[in-house]
Amino acid sequence: MKQKVCKDCGRLRAVSEFYVKRVNSNGKRYYARCKTCYNKWTYIRHGREYVKDGEAFKRRQARDDLKKAVKSGRIKKPTTCSSCGRYLPPEKLEGHHENGYGNPFDVVFLCRTCHVLRHKPPLPGQLA
Ligand SMILES: [Zn+2]
Ligand SMILES: [Zn+2]
Ligand SMILES: [Zn+2]
Repeated sequence: MKQKVCKDCGRLRAVSEFYVKRVNSNGKRYYARCKTCYNKWTYIRHGREYVKDGEAFKRRQARDDLKKAVKSGRIKKPTTCSSCGRYLPPEKLEGHHENGYGNPFDVVFLCRTCHVLRHKPPLPGQLA
C-alpha cells in the first residue's frame, strides 16, 4: 500500500486517504493534504459546512480544470458574452457550467453581469 505524508497534519497515511488530483500517464497525483485536513481547510476557507465529494467539491474541481485548460490553450475563450453578445477581453469572461460540473469543459462564457443573473437565486459568492 502506497503511503504519503500529509502536508498539514504531518501524518503518514495511505494514499487512499488523499483525494486524487489528476490521473496521467505517470499514475495518480494526490493533493498534498489528506482528506481530513483537506475538508477542514475547505471548511475554514468557506466558513461553512463542507460536503465531501458534494457539489462544492465538484464545482471547484471543474473550475480548476477549466482554468488550466484555458491556460494551456485547450479551451479557447470567445471574445463575446454568449448571453448578451457584449464584446469583452477574454480575461473578463467567466466560464459558466450550464449543465452541471460533470464535464468541466462543458461551459459557456459569460460576462460578469450575465453570469450573476444566471446564478440567481444563489448568491454571487457561489458562482462557478
Ligand atoms: Zn492531514
Ligand atoms: Zn453578458
Ligand atoms: Zn456559473
